[in-house]
Amino acid sequence: MGVVLDWLGCATFRLTVDGFVIYLDGYMDRVPAAPKVGLSAAEVDRADAILVGHAHFDHIAGAEVIAANTGATVIGSIESARLIEGAGVDRGQLLPSQGGERHRLSDGVVVTVYPSLHSCVWVGGVASGGTDAIATGHLGLTEVERAAVRGAGPLGGAGHDPELMAQLQEHRATTLHSDHTGGALAYMIDTPYGSVFYHDTSGCWTGVVRDLRPDFAIVAMAGRANIDGEPIQGSLAQFVGRMADMLRPRRMVLGHHDDWMPPVTSDGTTEESIGPVRTELSRVAPRVELLEVGYLEGTQVLG
Ligand SMILES: [Zn+2]
Repeated sequence: MGVVLDWLGCATFRLTVDGFVIYLDGYMDRVPAAPKVGLSAAEVDRADAILVGHAHFDHIAGAEVIAANTGATVIGSIESARLIEGAGVDRGQLLPSQGGERHRLSDGVVVTVYPSLHSCVWVGGVASGGTDAIATGHLGLTEVERAAVRGAGPLGGAGHDPELMAQLQEHRATTLHSDHTGGALAYMIDTPYGSVFYHDTSGCWTGVVRDLRPDFAIVAMAGRANIDGEPIQGSLAQFVGRMADMLRPRRMVLGHHDDWMPPVTSDGTTEESIGPVRTELSRVAPRVELLEVGYLEGTQVLG
């Protein structure tokens, strides 16, 4: 009974609400060099719903497999729905959404969809410094100016192990993916035991987030965070603190912070990465309890 949370790597989670199974993203089948999460999308034999945060492969891929095998309802952006339908999933399973929708999934579970923002990949890349590294600048740029920043950045992978980079290219080419986010979404999942906030990339509209007040929150910690359309003037730990301060959940976990795509990513679950987050939380949101969970640990988070 209650709400049980399992982390499945990157920003993928499973919520089980009295036996009702909700996947948050579907990405478990990663590059060979990434740590194994203990479950593949093809092995999932029970899912009632899948909520997709956005249409990049490290979030949407796997959702089409789970949906096809289980008949689960899929909530995602119009771009995510287009990709999943294109992969052969029955249109009747899809609930294309853009923020503002409320979907009842069962007697006890209602999902509300909100517009959200993707992290500033154009400036931060996927590899960032430590969680306490302060980044400033790059404010007020147009898309053309942002593209120029991106072009000068380190995303080409120079200096990385060429064999791992080849694995990565192969993986991207064979995995469900859109070059567009499709519009990042955030979700509030109401259950009989309380509410859960979920987003899968480090961005938010503060006007949306600050009044939501979930009981439990999953906050993404990767890249250069995006607040109201501008790169954060500060650190990733400060972004997590800001989210905690606005949402004020009783408990929260982090997402998107493991070493999900070596060699480009690094392990953000270490004490070196989490320490600054704990310090920031104790400063700005001392009543929020940060839970640290490993893969498939089955943690009861509500009820
Ligand atoms: Zn991502």
